[in-house]
Parts: sequence; C-alpha cells; structure tokens
Amino acid sequence: MSLRSAQLEVFGFPTFIHASILLLPASYAWALKQAGLPMWYLASFTLVLIASVLIHELGHAWALRWYGSRCQTITLHGLGGHVKWCEHCQSVMRPSWKFTVAVAGPLAGFAPGVLGLLAIPFAADQVTLMLVTQVAFVGIGLNVTNLLPVFPLDGGHAALALSQMILPRILHTVAATLLHLSGIAVGVGLAYYGYTMSDPFAGLYALAFIGINALAIFAAVFKPGQERAPT
Ligand SMILES: [Zn+2]
Repeated sequence: MSLRSAQLEVFGFPTFIHASILLLPASYAWALKQAGLPMWYLASFTLVLIASVLIHELGHAWALRWYGSRCQTITLHGLGGHVKWCEHCQSVMRPSWKFTVAVAGPLAGFAPGVLGLLAIPFAADQVTLMLVTQVAFVGIGLNVTNLLPVFPLDGGHAALALSQMILPRILHTVAATLLHLSGIAVGVGLAYYGYTMSDPFAGLYALAFIGINALAIFAAVFKPGQERAPT
C-alpha cells in the first residue's frame, strides 16, 4: 500500500504529496509551543513552508530539464521533499551538471526569501508583516541551512559532485566516505539534542541523517558508482 495521498502536476512535473507531510506542522507545533508563539501562527507557517519547499524542488527539477532530463518527479514529505529521476539520466549526468542541479534548489528557494525580506519595511499591517517575515525566515533559513556540506542536504550533494569533479577517483572515494561519516556525526548530535530537549522530531531527523548516510556507505561498498538524488 502506498502512503502517497495526492498527485498533482506542477509546471509539467508529476508532484506527489506524501501523507508524512503532516509531520511538518506537527513538528513546528511542538517548536512553536516551546517558543511561546500562538498556534494560529502555525497554519500560515505550514503553508509558507510547503510552498517554499515546492519552489526549492522546482529549482532542482528545472535544472534537470535544462540538461535534457524528462523523467523527474517531485515528492513533498515529512522531511521536506526530494526530486527523483531515472537511473539512465543519473548515469549520463556529468559531475558539473550534478553540482548545478544540487545548488539550483537552494537558489530557487532563496529568491522568494530575499523578496520577503525586502518587503518587510513596506508591510502595511500586522498580518502582512507576519506573512512576509515568515516568507523571509523560511526562504532564507531553510535554503542557507540546506547548503551546509552535510549529506543528504544539497550542500552535501554539491560537495560530493565537486569532489568528483576535482579529485582523482581514489581521493574522491575517501572524501565521499568522510562526508557520509560527518552526516552520521550530525545525526548523532541531533539525536543527543532530541534526547536532552525531549524533542521526538529531532530524533526522527537524526534517524534520517544516520540511516541515509549509513546506506550510502553501504551502497558505495557494494554498488560503487550509484549515488542518491538531491533532497
Ligand atoms: Zn534540495
């Protein structure tokens, strides 16, 4: 049984909305409660967050279309979202193309954040001010964080592509392994944070960091040459 609850088409890309997307408002409800912010803030925050993730994923999908790929699909889920494309397109992608595809997502998502920031001084009332502040905060915060060189964030994918571009194969393998080990270390740090702050969602994200990086190391050992798509 599939947990996919809806399929749309956005700018010609099949776009799936996974039921786990409900984790986003759930995790922010917890964080907003901790920060003492009112719950009405949550509805608009969630919508801004989903729109921002969609624009980010469209950046990846458009970059892939630019390089001739026609198979890409977008999925929005509880950890944000990801773009998937077929094994054939992955196998013909040059490292420099992979680098561009990885950074295209954060660049696309960053643009509305900057527009939101520029709009703050012109907000006529409290509701508009709240909305543009959320657009700026989510657009800039999410996409700058996403550029950190940690796998599976886009910065990690960009670092991996860059290492493939400039390093000899053996050194690239060492660099990729170190990158995945640092992703596991970030996951362990998040798990510790989740434990000390009693935040179950940090624990969930920790599991994702540890699991995805452990699987990538496993895949590199048993199926060399295959790498995951950007998130
Ligand atoms: Zn991305």
